[in-house]
Amino acid sequence: MPGSVDKNKTYLSELQKMVSEQQDVIPVLSTHNPQKIVKSPRTNDEMVQKRWALLGHPTPPISLYNEQDKSLIETYGKNIEYGIGTVKIPLGIAGPLRVNGIHAKGDFSIPLATTEAALVASYHRGACLITKAGGANSALLNESVGRSPGFAFNSILEAGTFIAWATEQYPYFIELAGSKTRHGKLRDMKIHMEGNHVYVYLEYTTGDASGQNMVTIATNAIYEYIMSSCPVPIKYGFLEANFSGDKKASAMSFLSVRGKKVTTEVNLSRELIKSVLHTTPEKMLNYWSMSALGGVMSGTIGVQGHYANGLAAFYIATGQDAACVAESAVGVTRFEINPQGGLYASVTMPNIMVGSVGGGTGLSSQKECLNILGLSGDGKARALAEVVGAVCLAGELSIIGALCADHFANAHQKLARG
Ligand code: NAP
Repeated sequence: MPGSVDKNKTYLSELQKMVSEQQDVIPVLSTHNPQKIVKSPRTNDEMVQKRWALLGHPTPPISLYNEQDKSLIETYGKNIEYGIGTVKIPLGIAGPLRVNGIHAKGDFSIPLATTEAALVASYHRGACLITKAGGANSALLNESVGRSPGFAFNSILEAGTFIAWATEQYPYFIELAGSKTRHGKLRDMKIHMEGNHVYVYLEYTTGDASGQNMVTIATNAIYEYIMSSCPVPIKYGFLEANFSGDKKASAMSFLSVRGKKVTTEVNLSRELIKSVLHTTPEKMLNYWSMSALGGVMSGTIGVQGHYANGLAAFYIATGQDAACVAESAVGVTRFEINPQGGLYASVTMPNIMVGSVGGGTGLSSQKECLNILGLSGDGKARALAEVVGAVCLAGELSIIGALCADHFANAHQKLARG
């Protein structure tokens, strides 16, 4: 409820009105058969035309379904159900961004799809700054994706008996997982017990795919085997018991990895900071200290400025699962003054969920964006993750520079409203 007695009374009467209006609406809705609209989930031209007709459009609006969409619509069949067209999102390019990685080496042009003004300009500025400084060192530290089936037993003793059995079965779990995927490899199993509940956290490497489907399908084979063959009576079980950090920031972030863990650094000279960001290393360090405490006091997981901006735009452009920005946008940005009086800046991100194959990466425009990077297809996922680290570092430097130079509001005023 909003607050004061009067405000609460007004709010209550609004709620009462809402409920009474719903009662008026329900009989109308109940005469409407939703099945008529939804029909088959398949996405092809015939179904698209039918859906638009049911929405009251004899021909689909050209902005959502044009000739090119029509020619590609069946290729979207594995990415969308009940398809009716495509939404066009502006695409910009930032960079070149020099990355001196273990896997990513060279100058990368960064495709970013967004409707947020100032975003690409900001990342472009940060990318050029890093490149002028000689590039960002970016290192993949770890990789794996997990699924966490959960099982309930009658007692701690039965849960413990299950754990002893499951541990013995681990070699067979590897075999079962391997029967479902060529590139997915079960590499570890961690078991967490809470009373008579057991969470079995299964960790996989997933080749060049981001791997969420792969680990779900592989884990399902193990889950079904456990449910059918476990010698201890299972009260109930679930394929995923919400312990894997899928699509959410979690406390596990810094203790393990989800997707790819990357750390990225750059050294910027005092002169470069002055000429590009119009500020000083000391002011940037002051900002970092204050914002780090701001993050701690407001309870963020990790301390960072706006990883989500670059990640969302990059994920959408390159066919990654945009919802995985939820876990990917966790990490730590850190600044220090280096021995030369310049700025040392780093980002460390434990949950970068990217693939160079699978998911939406094979769709024509998304694949073209990966081609701009030179990172489409087999053998490119690790480099992609190192580039993502550098992109987020570019974004941190640019936004913090703008805040230090008091340009932040002006830049948005000029670019979004100008
Ligand atoms: P996927 O497209 O479902 O699977 C990747 C496919 O590429 C597999 O068939 C794999 O074959 C094949 N492949 C070929 N070359 C490969 C290589 N070099 N490395 C790895 N795989 C290779 O993609 P995914 O990454 O597993 O799943 C991503 C999608 O899952 C995203 O679109 C996301 O939205 C969605 N998602 C699913 C869930 C879920 O729980 N199901 C949750 C969140 C997101 P093999 O398997 O035989 O190796």
